Amino acid sequence: MEAEVLVIGAGPAGSTVADRLARAGHDVLVVEEHARVGYPVQCAGLVSDRVLELAGTRSMVRTAVHGATVYSPSLRPVAFRAPDPRAFVIDRAGLDIALADRAAKGGARFETGLRFDGATRGENGSITARLTAADGGERTISTRLVVGADGVTSAVARAFRLRRPVEILPAFEAEFPRSPGDPDQVEVYLGRAIAPGLFGWWIPDGEGGARVGVAVSAGPVSARAYYERLLAHRARRFGAPLTGATAFLVSGIPIGLLPRAVADGALLVGDAAAQVKPLSGGGIFTGMRCAELAADVAHAALGAGDLSARRLAEYDERWRLELGGEFSRALYLRRVLRRLSDDDLERVIAALDESGMRETIVAFGDIDFPSHVARNLLLQSPSLVRLFPKALGALRTSRVGRVPEVEPGRSRAAK
Ligand SMILES: Cc1cc2nc3c(=O)[nH]c(=O)nc-3n(C[C@H](O)[C@H](O)[C@H](O)COP(=O)(O)OP(=O)(O)OC[C@H]3O[C@@H](n4cnc5c(N)ncnc54)[C@H](O)[C@@H]3O)c2cc1C
Repeated sequence: MEAEVLVIGAGPAGSTVADRLARAGHDVLVVEEHARVGYPVQCAGLVSDRVLELAGTRSMVRTAVHGATVYSPSLRPVAFRAPDPRAFVIDRAGLDIALADRAAKGGARFETGLRFDGATRGENGSITARLTAADGGERTISTRLVVGADGVTSAVARAFRLRRPVEILPAFEAEFPRSPGDPDQVEVYLGRAIAPGLFGWWIPDGEGGARVGVAVSAGPVSARAYYERLLAHRARRFGAPLTGATAFLVSGIPIGLLPRAVADGALLVGDAAAQVKPLSGGGIFTGMRCAELAADVAHAALGAGDLSARRLAEYDERWRLELGGEFSRALYLRRVLRRLSDDDLERVIAALDESGMRETIVAFGDIDFPSHVARNLLLQSPSLVRLFPKALGALRTSRVGRVPEVEPGRSRAAK
């Protein structure tokens, strides 16, 4: 079997690359190891309006959220609420299916139940990929370019000897059909006892239920154990435990910029390339946007007949130019936040409760570009500057990414 471009993985990044390349006239085959695109769901499904714009449909939106309540380690809350929707809770499987449908309409072929195992590159640059079908049968596919959109455990990265993310955060989440809580707000839980290394979340699903989970630094205590603690906290607050979980999710979130996302005859997109926001673990917007850039560079490289790492490196340059500044600032902030004790986090939450801070968060809050609100909060709050004496300088001097098509704050509101 042959395909000019072989995309591994039918998640948002893979289907976005496939759609763009197929519409540019290339012969694209997407292979997905699972039997059905979109399943199992491994995501909380909270996205910005930009994701809906990139997807070209809002069909998968379940509800809009207007803000967040952030809980300190001692469960002191501070709530922010905007008049306009600031994020959307989606049916994540619905997003993957819509993107795959769009790519198929654009001409891409899809094969499910087929796992990529490895690849060899011939003298003339052609690549032979080895795959295994659901029935155990072995297959080979000849291709000119392999796109690794195969998520956090990327077999393509291994096959092409590309470096893996600096850190993978274990995550655990469950869905509950009914849950008390404000249906317009997400809840975020901070602190070493609940979610060391990132945070716990409660996200309303728009139908009276919620998605509850944690992502944490890897350590001796499992993500599931932290999730149980979060449930216990909420049960104490509402006087009753959540019951009847309908789905569980165990996965990992890659954090840290890769030095390179390209090799001779291959490139990585999305989680495979750790194109994930370091402060939130969200990777749908960044993965899809980088996938568009990857497709544009791949199209030109295919046209030029040059699929060398040197030619494909333009992709690395373009995604770093557009998103690298935000990734770097967020990685810096994450390092600073990880060093904070629970007492320090209490002081951060107290500072966010000071007058004027909510207004700044509402004005500058943007889930895709969180470093902008962090910088503005530091500019405004002497208490925060005392806690993070070097942060303001670092945020000012770190490389500022050019974000022409994805300006912070652009088109956040629902249309
Ligand atoms: C608990 C949790 C909650 C999250 N919540 C959010 C959120 O609210 N908002 C947000 O923006 N992001 C969130 N994320 C991150 C988001 O899910 C990812 O960033 C996003 O799915 C990345 O898309 P992708 O296309 O790169 O990879 P994926 O969506 O992981 O898709 C990779 C695909 O490749 C397939 N595959 C893997 N290996 C092979 C192989 N060898 N052969 C063939 N196919 C293969 C997989 O089956 C999968 O379908 C969350 C992640 C976790 C773990």
